[in-house]
Amino acid sequence: MNDLWHTRPPTADTPPNADTREDMVVFENVSKTYPQHGNSGQPTLAIDSLNVRIKKTEIISILGPTGCGKSTAMNMIAGFESPSSGTVLLDGVPVNKPGPDRSIVFQQASLFPWLTVLENIILGVKSRGMSSAIYMDRARQLLAAVRLTGFEKHYPYQLSGGMQQRVQIARALISEPGVILMDEPFGALDSQTRLMMQELVLQLWQQYQPTIIFITHDVAEAVFVSDRVLLMSQRPGRVKLAIDINEPKPRVQEFITSSRFIQVQSELLHALRSEVQDTVNPPT
Ligand code: ADP
Ligand code: MG
Repeated sequence: MNDLWHTRPPTADTPPNADTREDMVVFENVSKTYPQHGNSGQPTLAIDSLNVRIKKTEIISILGPTGCGKSTAMNMIAGFESPSSGTVLLDGVPVNKPGPDRSIVFQQASLFPWLTVLENIILGVKSRGMSSAIYMDRARQLLAAVRLTGFEKHYPYQLSGGMQQRVQIARALISEPGVILMDEPFGALDSQTRLMMQELVLQLWQQYQPTIIFITHDVAEAVFVSDRVLLMSQRPGRVKLAIDINEPKPRVQEFITSSRFIQVQSELLHALRSEVQDTVNPPT
């Protein structure tokens, strides 16, 4: 069919500069209640009527007070948790189980200590039956991309924290997933290493173009790496503020000192602070 059939002229609803990328992840009116919480035995409403649309190849960051439901939202995309009501769609299809189309990077490197760097990277795809010619070629390219060429035979204990996170990222990318879920991936790293890792995420995005959902506590990190930042309210989590960053990629360090960066960062810090204060002193 001729492509013209698919090209609709801009209307009042779709301005000429509208983002026409398809949705990759959609939360439709999603709520999540955990049956029991702590010693009280009371159910916990972790997320309440969440509506979010994340575009293909978008990098979106999620900020919010501890316990507001960020990991819960991510676990629902991963297929580890299911919504109590509403639907989570992945590329138009409701999520009901984990799959190789979504990879996860956690804060604590979850590498197998008895396997080498290379063995950790290829384990998942090897066990799913990918041919060794393909996964070895991908592993070689990924080791170079995360700057670990030469460390193939090292064991995790021989690596720094940042290097271990780079192995996790290579392992996440080897199945060439459409979606990468990162749950505070750099939370345990020193600030210098974090800056390098943030740049690495952007470089890898340039190369592989996945959709990235990035949870962080760090407002500057959220602004630097993402196309859009969502700030969630205290529990039950909803979107309190969504900001488009509107800064082209690749990004340069100068972005951090630009007036746009400082203005967005202070807006987010202000909103986050009021949420955290409400958590400490709930409004009466
Ligand atoms: P965040 O990642 O924003 O810190 P979480 O999504 O981990 O928040 O948790 C949201 C709320 O749900 C918290 O009150 C937490 O204690 C509760 N919660 C998370 N996972 C479970 C679980 N498996 N069972 C019961 N309660 C949970
Ligand atoms: Mg969490």
